[in-house]
Amino acid sequence: MAQYEAVIGLEVHVQLATASKLFCACSTAFGCPPNTNVCEVCLGMPGALPTINREAVRYAALVGFATNCAVNLRSIFARKNYFYPDLPAGYQISQYELPICEHGFLYVRAEGKGKNVGITRIHLENDAGKNIHDQNENASYVDLNRAGTPLVEIVSGPDMRSPAEAAAFLKTLYGIVTYLGICDGNMEEGSFRCDANISLRAAGSDILSTRTELKNLNSFKNVRRALEYEIERQRDVLDDGDAVRQETRLYDADKNVTHAMRSKEEAHDYRYFPDPDLLPVEIAEEDIRAWKAGLPELPGERLARFTRMTGLPEADIEILVQHSGTADFFEKAAAMSDARKVANYMIGPMLRECHARGVPIEPSCWAMKPEALAGLVRIVDRGIINARIANDIFGDLFSSGCMPEAYVTEKGIGQISDAAVLEEAVDAAIAANPAEAAAFRGGRTKLLSFFVGQVMRATKGKANPALVNELLNKKLY
Ligand SMILES: [Zn+2]
Repeated sequence: MAQYEAVIGLEVHVQLATASKLFCACSTAFGCPPNTNVCEVCLGMPGALPTINREAVRYAALVGFATNCAVNLRSIFARKNYFYPDLPAGYQISQYELPICEHGFLYVRAEGKGKNVGITRIHLENDAGKNIHDQNENASYVDLNRAGTPLVEIVSGPDMRSPAEAAAFLKTLYGIVTYLGICDGNMEEGSFRCDANISLRAAGSDILSTRTELKNLNSFKNVRRALEYEIERQRDVLDDGDAVRQETRLYDADKNVTHAMRSKEEAHDYRYFPDPDLLPVEIAEEDIRAWKAGLPELPGERLARFTRMTGLPEADIEILVQHSGTADFFEKAAAMSDARKVANYMIGPMLRECHARGVPIEPSCWAMKPEALAGLVRIVDRGIINARIANDIFGDLFSSGCMPEAYVTEKGIGQISDAAVLEEAVDAAIAANPAEAAAFRGGRTKLLSFFVGQVMRATKGKANPALVNELLNKKLY
C-alpha cells in the first residue's frame, strides 16, 4: 500500500459582531421573528444602494493584524453571481482581486510540534439568508434576517498535514477572533464555521493533487472527524487505482461519513466583477496606527505570560488561554493567591468537574467565582484543610459557588492540627497494630504510610499530614 500525505487548507467564515449589517442599518440580532430585520438594501431591491459599515472594516483589519497579514489601504468589493432562493440580489458582495488583508501566517501547535500556517487572504463579504424546509411539507420558506450580515472569510494556505493540525489551526483562530471581541464565537448558531479542502499525495511529493471540499463544518470535533474520514476514503480510492473526483462533499456528523453534494469538475463560474455601487475601501494610515494600538493581548502572548507566572509547561496552560473568559478567571484568582496552585486546580479538578457535569469550559457558566478558588488555595496554604480534603470538596464548591472557608466551617471539616489530639490517634494506631510496629522497628520503614493511613482513617481524613508524619517518626523509633 502506498504511503500518502494529506494536504489540507481551510476557509473559515467568521460572523462579525457588529450591531448592524455590512451594507445597511438593519440589526444583526439572532433569533428575531423571520424577515423583521430587513430593508430594501439587504432584500436586494433594484436601485437600493449599499453603504459600507466602517466598524466591519475595522474588525477585518484587526483579524489581519492578529494573523500577521498585510492590511491593504485600498481594497475592492466584487459581485459573486449565483442564484439561490436565500440570495435575493442574485449575487453576493465579496472581495476578489483586492481583498482587505493578505499574505499572513498563524503559529499553530499540534501533537507537541509547532509550525506556521500561511494565511493566503482575508476578505469581507455579506452572508446569505436562510431557507427553511422543515416547517411545512409542501413549501419552503426563506428568512432574510441573516442576509447582509458581515462575514470575514479567512483562507489558509494548503499547509496542514493532519486533521489534528487543522483542528489546532481552527482553535487558534477561534481564540484570536473571540479575544479581539469581533465575533461572539457561537458555533452552534454558525458564527464561526469552516470548509476544508483536502487531497492526498505520495509522501514527499510537492505536487498538489485533486482535492475535495468539505462543507460547513461547525465544530472542532466535526472538522477533525470529517477530515479523518475523508483521508481514509481518498486512500481507498487511490489504492484501488482510481482517481479522486473534484467535488464538494457534505459531512454527516450522525453517521460520520461524507457524501458528494455536487460535482465541481468544471469550476463554478461566479462571473466576478467589481461592484459598481461601491467605491473602493480606503483606509487611512492613521486609522491603521490607531487600530493597531488598540489591539488587546492575544492568546499567544497570554500563554507566554502565564507560563512565566506559573512555571508550568505551555502544553498544560494552553487550555486556560483558549477562551478569554477562562484566562480572565485564572488571572483574577491568581492575583488573590498563588498563580501556580490556581492553575493546577483549574487544569485538574476544575476541568474534571466541567467534563463530568457537562458544563462548558466557560466561567460565565460556572457557579464558582475566582474569589472562591483563591480562597481554597489560601485555606490549604494556611493548613485549615489539607490538599486531600480540598480535592474531596472541590466538586461541591464548584457546583454550589460557596466560599470555601464558610463551607469548611459549616461542615466541620477543618484540619486537625492540635498536637495533643493527633498524639492520641497516633498512640492508638501503634497500640492497635503491634506486629506492624515491630516490623517497622525491624527496618520495614515503608510501613510508615500504613500508619499514616490508620491515623487518617481514625480522623476521617482531617489530620494534618505533616504533623502525623512527625509524630509517627518520633513514636515509632
Ligand atoms: Zn437591511
